Amino acid sequence: MAERTYGPEYGFQTRAVHTGNDVDKDTGAIKRPITLANCYELPYDPSTLNWSSADKALYTRNGGVNQKYLQEKIAALEGTEDSVVLASGVAALSGVFFTFLKSGDHVVSSKVTYIAVYRLLTEHLKNKYGIEATLVDTSDPEAVKAAIRPNTKLIHVETPGNPTLGVSNIAEIAKIAHDRGILFSVDNTFASPYLQRPAELGADLTVESLTKYINGHGDALGGAVSGKKELIDQIRLQAMVNLGGAISPFNAWLIMRGAVTLPLRMRQHSESALKVARFLKNDPAVRFVAYPGLESDRGYPIASRQMKNGFSGMISFGLKGDADAHNRFVSHLKVITSAVSLGHDESLIVFLGPDDERQYLYPEEFHGGFFRFSVGLEDTEDIIGDIRQALEKAGFRN
Ligand SMILES: *Cc1c(COP(=O)(O)O)cnc(C)c1O
Repeated sequence: MAERTYGPEYGFQTRAVHTGNDVDKDTGAIKRPITLANCYELPYDPSTLNWSSADKALYTRNGGVNQKYLQEKIAALEGTEDSVVLASGVAALSGVFFTFLKSGDHVVSSKVTYIAVYRLLTEHLKNKYGIEATLVDTSDPEAVKAAIRPNTKLIHVETPGNPTLGVSNIAEIAKIAHDRGILFSVDNTFASPYLQRPAELGADLTVESLTKYINGHGDALGGAVSGKKELIDQIRLQAMVNLGGAISPFNAWLIMRGAVTLPLRMRQHSESALKVARFLKNDPAVRFVAYPGLESDRGYPIASRQMKNGFSGMISFGLKGDADAHNRFVSHLKVITSAVSLGHDESLIVFLGPDDERQYLYPEEFHGGFFRFSVGLEDTEDIIGDIRQALEKAGFRN
């Protein structure tokens, strides 16, 4: 059979289906198998090997075959030269921080990010390693510029941001970073590479929690960092080989399978979420809705330019009521599940209460508690119907 590689001359869906898969040479099976072995056979004279290298399959922490196939797929979807896949999204984020920062360095980060970023930047890296961070509203490029110091080594942005869905202009911040020789990383988890490709907009490093949309089925943890080979090789060596953040072959295989349908799922998530956001926007029980696909949303002008084919499935909203009213509403849901995580097949909702320690970083309307809602792949009418009946049972219609 012809050599099967799928470069940028092929469309996103073709790459999602084929990249990283091939006919298994031993059996002729048309799906590559899961290789659970920890080790690979050594050459005649192993003394020539570098035991800490990620160049050759040797030991699964130095890079097993299922990791390698998934890396090919992720790089093809992000449109980057290379990608490293790791045990979780947080392993990918800490891989970026621990590889490129050292004592005395400074980071500018979005003030609203995934909680582990906040912890790493405000506690761990600061107290143990003397790395300072300034948290700013990155939806304002001037605020990013103003926070830069002579020792700033990294700008880290999450867009749309978790959990308040703030949108930052990737291309504009890339320019600010590169004019000053600063590395620029973007956490793209909420969008996924189908809707937004930070590398094409100038980001040096794109971080994904594969746990979310890319796997999409809520049954495996994983993370990835994508970019130029010269940068990714450094993360691979440090975060994977020496710090041990390797993904299991089984999870790599599951994520490989999940990623095949990423474009179809993202279109459905986006289409449903827009309808749900419009429904919420018009419901008298709803105090506010944040969804970058609503024309009234503060993130819409930038999101509509840098996101393509939709605005993803993440919505935040608050009800006119206290914490108990929010929890009562959730207790009546039948289709939507109360659980953390996002980007799964099923709709997931989590109540972030008024005592959240990061509340001072959120826009005003989020104070007092709100929901982070991941709109799933159920029928849109059933999702909206579920919200409607739960609002009624929770006493919002009296
Ligand atoms: C979930 C999430 C992460 C962390 O990913 P894990 O796979 O849970 O470690 C990082 N960034 C964002 C935006 C996330 O939503």
